[in-house]
Amino acid sequence: MHNPIPPKERMKIHRQLMPEQPPLERARNFVEVNRGLDVALAQEEARRCLTCKTQHCFSACPVGVQVRDFIDLVVAGDYLGAAAKIREDNVLPAVTGRVCPQEKQCEGSCILSARGESVAIGYLERFVADYERSVGKVGLPARAPLTGKKVAVVGSGPAGLSCAGDLVLKGHDVTVLEALHEIGGVLVYGIPEFRLPKQIVRDEVENLRLMGVEFRTNVVVGRTVTVDELLGEEGYHAVFVATGAGLPMFLNIPGEHLCGVYSANEFLTRVNLMKANEFPAYDNPIYDCRGKDVAVFGAGNTAMDAVRTSLRLGAKCASIVYRRSEKEMPARAEEVHHAKDEGVQFQMLTNPLEFLGDEKGWLTGVRLQRMELGAPDKSGRRSPVAIEGSEHVLPIHVAIIAIGNKGNPLVQSTTPDLATTRNGYIVADAEKLKTSKPGVFAGGDIVTGGATVILAMGAGRKAAKAIHEYLQSGIW
Ligand code: FAD
Ligand code: SF4
Repeated sequence: MHNPIPPKERMKIHRQLMPEQPPLERARNFVEVNRGLDVALAQEEARRCLTCKTQHCFSACPVGVQVRDFIDLVVAGDYLGAAAKIREDNVLPAVTGRVCPQEKQCEGSCILSARGESVAIGYLERFVADYERSVGKVGLPARAPLTGKKVAVVGSGPAGLSCAGDLVLKGHDVTVLEALHEIGGVLVYGIPEFRLPKQIVRDEVENLRLMGVEFRTNVVVGRTVTVDELLGEEGYHAVFVATGAGLPMFLNIPGEHLCGVYSANEFLTRVNLMKANEFPAYDNPIYDCRGKDVAVFGAGNTAMDAVRTSLRLGAKCASIVYRRSEKEMPARAEEVHHAKDEGVQFQMLTNPLEFLGDEKGWLTGVRLQRMELGAPDKSGRRSPVAIEGSEHVLPIHVAIIAIGNKGNPLVQSTTPDLATTRNGYIVADAEKLKTSKPGVFAGGDIVTGGATVILAMGAGRKAAKAIHEYLQSGIW
């Protein structure tokens, strides 16, 4: 280990702060909010690592990044070596360094977290991945000799990409089939540019291409080709289904059909993939938010992304409306903190009852009701109870519904012998990710429901291992 500072002294160094764009400036542009650590900050942060023998951070990372060892290479100033060390287990380090909920994963189990200041593993991961990109020397792992086995990966989100990366290194012939015109799943159509620049995803996809993965866009499995055809005349030996949870849920209240009411998925996709933020250079396929009042219903990461995007599109007032209290909000603490700094209003303990419109069918407002917290529900969270006589109207021009998604249904409905849950997710065993159909594996949000990038990547890795075993043994 290279750290010259004695462990006791390391504990006196405080966690480095991530440089950010000033809140009021960034609230009106799409440039990335977090600026990244420079070399001096990264060195100072890396030297805080206690190089523990029992590596809790490693065990808590769903893809098993060798955290202690890559941080030690940062201390040694070998940034390319550190990036290559991460790439042994993680095909998207510049992405995970930005969007992983580290506080619940690696950093949450760092022994320094007991003092509230875990090593900033995510910041360091981002630093080395960005360094590697900036010098243009990406250390891609070597590929094993070709096996002649073909695998189709359906869906190009983090689960599909991580599975494809691992399988191609084992020497298999891997093709990713994606319904949309861009590769990346939620990384490109959901998470906004100001949190995850799209060029970073494109660069990571290009690395996978260089490793040997083939990508086909505009292929809707279940329409263009079925899973049975992939395993039959198309000659694939195995299929990994990673189609994600992209089917939006709605509030099912009156007025949800009005013009100006969006699902968060549609709203974000129109901005991220159709350049609604570049209006008028691009003919804007979204209702103009400039000078308008926008309300987003829900309080997860998607809701934060939608409300912050609406501010950047010029909203006069952008609010989060949530029926529970701030304590129950599922969004990452960093996203809530960023949203507040940027001027987003938070209307907690408030429930929508009805959207109101004018005679031409345009949204004009929402009827709301105040709530209070009652007894805990099945999830353990205190459930909201309506307060009689607290109804009131909030005038708004744009409403964005961000209360969760369900699994994309097409593959299930066109693959008759694929078992699904009551909620329409694919049933797959936890360890091998095998489905009820021989040769077909599934993982990521389409099995678990909406989760996280790194859990989806962990599922992709598990599936790659199981698919490799299956291709070698031929035993299902
Ligand atoms: P997806 O990323 O959904 O990818 C599935 C892909 O399959 C899509 O590209 C889809 O087009 C394609 N597909 C679907 N059906 C077909 C078909 N029939 N044929 C071919 N292709 C098909 N997680 C975090 O960890 N951190 C965050 O900050 C974060 N922010 C988020 C913000 C938003 C707005 C959203 C929506 C989610 C966020 N998440 C975040 C969750 C995370 O992005 C997902 O859990 C993760 O992307 C799931 O990965 P996946 O590969 O299972 O599916
Ligand atoms: Fe932590 Fe995510 Fe990196 Fe794993 S991939 S070490 S969970 S930041």
